[in-house]
This record gives sequence, structure tokens and C-alpha cells, in this order.
Amino acid sequence: MKKTITVFKGDGIGPEITDAVLAILQAAQAPLAYEVYSVGIPLYEQCGELISEEAFASFERNKVLLKSPITTPIGSGFRSINVLLRKKYDLYANVRPAKSNPAIATPFPDVDIVTFRENTEDLYVGVEEQIDADTVHATKIITRKASERIIEAAFRYAADNQRKRVTCVHKANILKMSDGLFLSIFHDIAKRYPTIESDDRIVDNMCMQLVQYPQRYDVLVMPNLYGDILSDLTSGLIGGLGLMPSANLGSEYAMFEAVHGSAPDIAGKHIANPTALLWSACMMLDHLGEQTVAARIRKAVDQVLADKKALTPDLGGSATTQQYTQAVIEAL
Ligand code: NAD
Repeated sequence: MKKTITVFKGDGIGPEITDAVLAILQAAQAPLAYEVYSVGIPLYEQCGELISEEAFASFERNKVLLKSPITTPIGSGFRSINVLLRKKYDLYANVRPAKSNPAIATPFPDVDIVTFRENTEDLYVGVEEQIDADTVHATKIITRKASERIIEAAFRYAADNQRKRVTCVHKANILKMSDGLFLSIFHDIAKRYPTIESDDRIVDNMCMQLVQYPQRYDVLVMPNLYGDILSDLTSGLIGGLGLMPSANLGSEYAMFEAVHGSAPDIAGKHIANPTALLWSACMMLDHLGEQTVAARIRKAVDQVLADKKALTPDLGGSATTQQYTQAVIEAL
């Protein structure tokens, strides 16, 4: 039976890469039906909303969202639509896999690191207070509930995906109470997964280790701020944000999107690379229990990237989005 998912087409390169991904999903015979919504700047200019009520309602019905990038309007009230979606649907786990690909030359081959970033608290609660003209306080919040669910998610992922090790990243040597709580919960949960190795690193040391020996690391779990920074670091290890997929998971809802933005500089030029959104769609298929289809698509993409004949300009080629998409479909 087909599972219905919601698709937000976004703006900038969003519509181009969404069309490419939907064509590939169709060619791969993914057992999916789609409710597709145009969201983003054109809608905002019409009615002052980036996402319509119907689009939100569709996500609430289907619980699974494939989202392409949305431009943050300059001068608007909210910080980002992503922050809004994460809060509204309690998408507490931000999962970013960083895997080296032979088509992209970097000084770091064989990187295969999955970062689990807590998505709802830490310094991102946005509570800041002006104490006097020269002093500002920011509040860092770490709770047992939020820490348990992200750490549990990381170990569960490791167990389900034949991963060997989970590393907790923290600064508990200085932030003894807040990060200390996160670390102690990590050690408690680790005992429930005796077949998975567990260890921890202080965040500054972790940064050095990741650029010296990234191959030594497997699954990482950490509070929000360290996750924000380290997941960009790991994407740099594999050649940049352009190839990074992500999942934002909650207990009820799941949203899958590329890490990159709407790339207004190349929008409409038909040269956008849809790979990060496509890999996000593969994470979505895994989430829906369609691992076989996801594996077929990943294999086809690997083949096209390795062939180097149909690469988009960001990867040093001259193919259009359409030519790249066609090459993946042929490889399938
Ligand atoms: P960006 O990621 O859109 O672009 C940075 C650079 O990478 C640009 O040169 C762009 O051409 C290139 N690039 C990005 N994706 C590419 C792709 N798939 N193929 C080829 N080249 C690609 O970052 P930005 O310019 O800082 O942001 C543009 C807008 O996107 C902003 O309004 C920002 O707020 C928004 N944004 C949205 C999301 C999201 O919806 N998830 C994430 C990040 C940024």
C-alpha cells in the first residue's frame, strides 16, 4: 500500500530540486503518494505567510514531510521557518549523516559520521536578559526529558544500523551541572546497549580529533549548540553543505530536508544539484521502512557521481539538473 507524504516545494532552487527528486522517486517505484504544496516567498508575497494552513494540515495528517529549502524573508519577524517547524512539531532530533563520496575529493576519505543534535533546548531557547548596559545573560537549558530522548535516539539508530560506537560530546568539565546532567544520562542509557561501544569527548578536543582522525568516529550525540557547530564541521570534512541530507525527527512527526538553503544566486538556471534533497528522501524511505528502495537510489547516485559524466557545476561538471536526474534514472 502506498504511504502518502507531504512535500513542500520551497522557493529559489526548491521547485527545481523537488521536481528532480520526485521524478527519481517515481522511477525507483517508491511506494509513495504525494501531497505537494508550493511554499515560500511567492506565497509570502501573496498573503504574508510562508506556509499555508492547508500545507500545515497536510503534514499534520501525513506526519512525514519532504521539505525543500525556503528563503528567510529579510526584515520579517521570525528567525527562521525551520526553527518554527522544529518547535511546532517538537522535532527534537536533528540527524545529519556525513559520508565521504569518491566523486568529491577532500583531504579526508572514509568519513562516515552521523551526528545527533538535540534540537529543542540548550542556548537555543533564546532566553537572553540585559542585566545592565554592559552585561547580558543567556540561559542554557538542559532537561532530563530532552536529553534522554536524543541520546536514546542515537543508540537506537546505532543498534538498527549496525553502527559500532556512540560518542557523547559535551563540556561537562566546566558546565558541571548542565552538561554534567547530559553526560550522566548518556552513561545510564549506554548500559542498556551493551553491544555498542560508548565513550565521550570534551567538545574542544572533539573538534581537533575530527580534523585529525575523522575516520575514528561513528555516531555522535550532543546538546544543541555543539551539534549546530560540529555538524557543519563534519559536512566540511566531506566537501561542504551541498551534499548533506538531514532528518528532523519527533515522536509523532518527521521532516526530511537538505542542509543547504534556497540558493537564490542559481535559482532558475537549471544547474542546482538535487543530491542532498534526494539523500534526504532516502532517509525518509528508511524511516518509512522502505530501505530496499532507498538503497537502490543511493547505489544509482553513487554510480552517477563516480562516473563524473553528469555532474552539476557545483561538483565541477557541466550537466543541468535535468541531465543529472536523467543519469540517475538511467542508473536505476
Ligand atoms: P545556500 O545554501 O542557499 O547557498 C550557499 C551557496 O551554495 C550558494 O552559492 C549556492 O548557489 C550554493 N548551493 C546551495 N545549494 C546548492 C545546490 N543544491 N546545488 C548547487 N549549489 C548550491 O545559503 P544562503 O545563500 O546563505 O541562503 C539562501 C537562503 O536560504 C536564505 O534566505 C536562508 O535563510 C535560506 N536557508 C534555508 C534553509 C532551509 O530552508 N532549510 C537552510 C539554509 C538557508
